[in-house]
Amino acid sequence: MHTGAYLALFALATRSFATTQQPLQTQTFDEGVRTTALQCCNALEDILTSSTILYPASSKYSAQSSTYYSLEQAAQKPACRIAPATTEDLSRLIKFATATRCEFAVRAGGHMSWEGSSNIGPNGFTIDLGGLKEVELKDDGKTVSIAPGLKWSEVYGFLKPHGLHTVGGRSSGVGVGGFLIGGGVSFLSTEMGLGSDNVLDYEVVLADGSIVHANESERSDLYWALKSGSTNYGIVTRFLMPTIPRPQIWGGSLFYHGSAGPRLFKQLATFTDRLKEDPHGMSAISVAWSPEMKDYAIWSPNVYLAPQAYPSPLFDGLQDIEPFQSTMRVADLGEITDEVDMLSPGGRNSQWFSVVFKNDAELPWDIQLKGREIFEPYHDRPGAAWAITVQPINEGMIAAGHKRGGNPLGLSVEDGDQLLLLGCVFWNDPQDSAVMKAKAQEYIKAATELARERGLLNKYIYLNYALDTQNVLESYGAENLKKMREIKSKYDPDNLLEVWKGGWKL
Ligand SMILES: Cc1cc2nc3c(=O)[nH]c(=O)nc-3n(C[C@H](O)[C@H](O)[C@H](O)COP(=O)(O)OP(=O)(O)OC[C@H]3O[C@@H](n4cnc5c(N)ncnc54)[C@H](O)[C@@H]3O)c2cc1C
Repeated sequence: MHTGAYLALFALATRSFATTQQPLQTQTFDEGVRTTALQCCNALEDILTSSTILYPASSKYSAQSSTYYSLEQAAQKPACRIAPATTEDLSRLIKFATATRCEFAVRAGGHMSWEGSSNIGPNGFTIDLGGLKEVELKDDGKTVSIAPGLKWSEVYGFLKPHGLHTVGGRSSGVGVGGFLIGGGVSFLSTEMGLGSDNVLDYEVVLADGSIVHANESERSDLYWALKSGSTNYGIVTRFLMPTIPRPQIWGGSLFYHGSAGPRLFKQLATFTDRLKEDPHGMSAISVAWSPEMKDYAIWSPNVYLAPQAYPSPLFDGLQDIEPFQSTMRVADLGEITDEVDMLSPGGRNSQWFSVVFKNDAELPWDIQLKGREIFEPYHDRPGAAWAITVQPINEGMIAAGHKRGGNPLGLSVEDGDQLLLLGCVFWNDPQDSAVMKAKAQEYIKAATELARERGLLNKYIYLNYALDTQNVLESYGAENLKKMREIKSKYDPDNLLEVWKGGWKL
């Protein structure tokens, strides 16, 4: 079996969506009066000076909608889609929307899976950050200022000729905005922490439209809260990140038959433990049901941040488990992020969720077996597939999160190495949505209970993988939640950003 066959695991059809013409209306606004979404769009035509406003009849509106990762998000039809080209226009937009109570969603790369996380129905409009794409080297190349509408492929493409890289996505198609606002596990995270732990400065548009900066010395409370604060504080228009010399690495993908799962998860537990000796590697094990192959298959992306194959002791033992296909080679790190992206296409209905537990060799496979009980009766539904992907949250990653003023996640080095489980459920037919969503809920419960029964559960829920039904902000702990609420009251005392839909609200 070759890579192409494995790719079929994730293969899907891209779709475009029919649109209907909406009449334009002119309306006078009184502050505080709730208005219809279309009236909000029409009024913004007169207020915004450098934004593109698209209505459902336009082919560009359809084109933007079709690039969401999940079908359910793509199917939503906001009254209009507004793409500001400047921070100043975004500021005017937010000031107007919060004053007139116009509801909206915000989309950067559109990769969050659940319906409504970065798109909205006809009762609101969507702010598309795709018009904000500036990227600029600063401080003699030591830092890079990144606008939120870029994909990581564009950031890496800009940095490459300078021989530089930064702590961004492992899948190059993911958007900068959502990735960094929700944490961000990178190939460098085992040593450097999450992407958000590396942000040096945020430029952010607050609820009243003001444009401010937050960093370690200026608005340090807001700086802390923005590291995984979801859609509560403002829209970030610039992330200042440190650059690192672009590494030549050893990396790629290993593909196995599903039966290798128990051995591979043991290997992952050892790998995670050995990150204490050498934090320069990243590995993940993804076990997926393939409707095309009618079997389980395993994809394991691996990276070592030096051009050295199977470095000891980190990867000791991995060669004893034979893959049916390997793309491991010495390459540029950006190349590996393109490979990961190619292996993770969107375009289906999907539900993603997160469970975190103490590093353990057996629990991930037992959770996989639980999934079989839950999903196998539904394998005959069109496009039905599901996967678990397990990866380290090692002590080094947690410790990095305590630098630069810390973050609100509530993770402690004393708890030791953890594993982050991403669960994914896919299906094609909208008629199966109710049952597949119910099964996803059943699986979250079963996986959480199994981890709890064994005394391994960590209450932390990883925002970027979480489902809307998961209590992400509560999982940071009561003290951090209280602090986040106090910071919210300071920067948005009247909760004007209530009109921003999607994300997890305080
Ligand atoms: C194929 C694939 C691969 C992935 N790989 C990784 C990975 O390697 N590591 C990892 O950690 N995660 C990964 N993820 C998860 C990903 O990080 C999240 O889905 C993230 O939210 C996507 O960001 P986005 O900008 O593309 O999403 P969007 O759906 O556009 O946005 C997500 C959320 O962030 C908010 N938001 C976006 N921009 C801003 C902003 N500028 N200011 C304030 N709020 C904003 C949105 O309103 C929304 O609530 C992956 C997801 C997919 C589908």
